[in-house]
Amino acid sequence: HNHIDQATSEKILAAIKANKTHPVIPKYQSLDLYQTKGGYRLLSQLRKDGNPENIQDKLLDAGLRGLGGAGFPSGRKWSFVRSYDGPRYLAVNGDEGEPGTFKDRYHLEREPHMFLEGMLIAAWAINAETCFIYMRDEYPAVLEILQCEIKALEDTGLVAPGYIDLRRGAGAYICGEESAMIESIEGKRGLPRHRPPFVAEVGIFGKPTLVHNVETLHWVTRICREGPEILNSVEKNGRKGLRNYSVSGRVNAPGVYLLPAGSTILDIIDAAGGMLAGHTLKAYQPGGPSSGLLPATLNNVPLDFDTLQEHGSFIGSAAVVVLSDHDSVKAAALNMLRFFEDESCGQCTPCRVGCEKAVKLMQANTWDQALLEDLCTAMADASICGLGQAAPNPIRLTIKHFPNEV
Ligand code: SF4
Repeated sequence: HNHIDQATSEKILAAIKANKTHPVIPKYQSLDLYQTKGGYRLLSQLRKDGNPENIQDKLLDAGLRGLGGAGFPSGRKWSFVRSYDGPRYLAVNGDEGEPGTFKDRYHLEREPHMFLEGMLIAAWAINAETCFIYMRDEYPAVLEILQCEIKALEDTGLVAPGYIDLRRGAGAYICGEESAMIESIEGKRGLPRHRPPFVAEVGIFGKPTLVHNVETLHWVTRICREGPEILNSVEKNGRKGLRNYSVSGRVNAPGVYLLPAGSTILDIIDAAGGMLAGHTLKAYQPGGPSSGLLPATLNNVPLDFDTLQEHGSFIGSAAVVVLSDHDSVKAAALNMLRFFEDESCGQCTPCRVGCEKAVKLMQANTWDQALLEDLCTAMADASICGLGQAAPNPIRLTIKHFPNEV
């Protein structure tokens, strides 16, 4: 706008509108199609004579845990929120900003109603006043799909106009942290809150709030329709259930793969078409940069909740990035800390200053390991939220597993 006159600008806008190329809306299952396959019958039935505790038990039986990263048992969350007096709210965390994660987008661009029905079931279970969907703005196709399908739900009378409030995020990674997301929904800067109190008790506008990730709600519908067995009957390496792994990096076919929760990195690489020709597995990020980088020698660990703790890591939202012998783990770890430095909300000193200092120290030819370890301890112990607490993981794991590189 600084360089073109008003008339030219209007011409360009008109041309864009007439010849729309962005976003590309993929073929997805619309409301009509979803309903012909029995969609929303379950919701209508539950609204008529359902018992929230029965559904909660099904989720617990299935072993469904929050798939945004924290892994809290979903059924238990519902009873916590219900135990506090209303009004209550439901907030969907669709701010999928973890580098390497794209599973929510995958589901929303294919079967948006599987998620929307799950959200409305959860809203019914806690008697929510409003459902807020906090959606990543960098997913323009998803936003258009949701706008269109929410309108269709309103037109059919399945939800009252305005009951689903679709909000656009603004690109801040920290707004994927649930309490920062709630601040943002309230119209404030996205700063994580101190806990307790937890958002189940004091959430949006100080009211009890149920927060779920998109994929979790997708599974709520499937478990209610197909039974808890769809998850609890699958077993591998002592772990039950299924995980959607977002796989990228040095593999032949990056993408989202639904695999048993006990899968190892070798199973995941196999599913993604194997390693690229001429590349050998060197390291992998199991669940976003907060989970750091693990060496190829740890190729027999089931990548599920709780299994990576003893290795100083965690599965998070299952964002797997595969690194090969062509990659520098030191450079990858530095990149992760640069990301945290950029995305730190700046509210607390250990994280704001710690990330900046870490980046400076990690740019050296040889890392000052003792100083970095001191810094990591301060960050992990004294940061307010998960960003600052987990930011040391890439540093610690690189020092532990790749001492020769640093
Ligand atoms: Fe903000 Fe980092 Fe502190 Fe979290 S840890 S509140 S992101 S400064």
